[in-house]
Amino acid sequence: MQQFFIDKKVNVGDKYYFTSKQLHHAKDVVRLDNETIRLVYEGEAFFAKVIKSDKEYYAEVIEKDERINELSNDITLAMALIRKEKFELVLQKTCEIGVKRIIPFVSSRCIVKEKKDKKERYEDILLTASEQCKRNIVPEITNTVSYKDLINYKEDNNLLAYESADNIFISDIVKEKRNSLIVIGPEGGFSEEEVNYFVANGFDIVTLGSRILRAETAAIYGCSVLSELLGK
Ligand code: SAH
Repeated sequence: MQQFFIDKKVNVGDKYYFTSKQLHHAKDVVRLDNETIRLVYEGEAFFAKVIKSDKEYYAEVIEKDERINELSNDITLAMALIRKEKFELVLQKTCEIGVKRIIPFVSSRCIVKEKKDKKERYEDILLTASEQCKRNIVPEITNTVSYKDLINYKEDNNLLAYESADNIFISDIVKEKRNSLIVIGPEGGFSEEEVNYFVANGFDIVTLGSRILRAETAAIYGCSVLSELLGK
């Protein structure tokens, strides 16, 4: 079933006319005709039927969809800038897993330095992934910050994934279902000074197991564990 996020409130019985971008996708790419689709406005979802006639192409809203496909607590992923394809993979996969917010950041061992603002492209990836996996909201992506600024985004649980951590796992820290922030470093990892900075600012250092994961694997794995712990 195709899903579209819409920026206009609808009710059962309304006709929804697609935006030009949606129209192109619905009519020319996936060629919807008489199919049921899901329309989501500010977290509220409806089923609608696509109506195609000689003159018009629209969706008729038929029923509210009561399902809310969001986690009961928020996951914020702070993700170091890594190579473009890997970073975009992280956006798509962690969106499917259910993250609420992604904060790109730079630390000393980042080999990628953001040249121009890619926020619009990132938002597009998140929108497409959210529609595909039927989320009720599109995760937010912030501007790229310095690792030092991550203390401004602290949640109830604040985790730093560090490959040289003692045997403390995410589940040892996240005992209650509370909003959580997890920080994943770049390909080169964190310097000792950076780790100390996070510890001094109240972050808990966690291991993701005894194998060293690629940064993108670490992000997907860490968010997966959190989503299981934080509820459906
Ligand atoms: N450069 C390091 C590895 C960095 S892996 C080295 O070669 O030793 C990239 C990031 O993934 C790390 O900064 C960390 O946040 C996360 N990570 C990878 N494996 C991990 C593990 N086993 N436990 C915790 N975090 C891990």
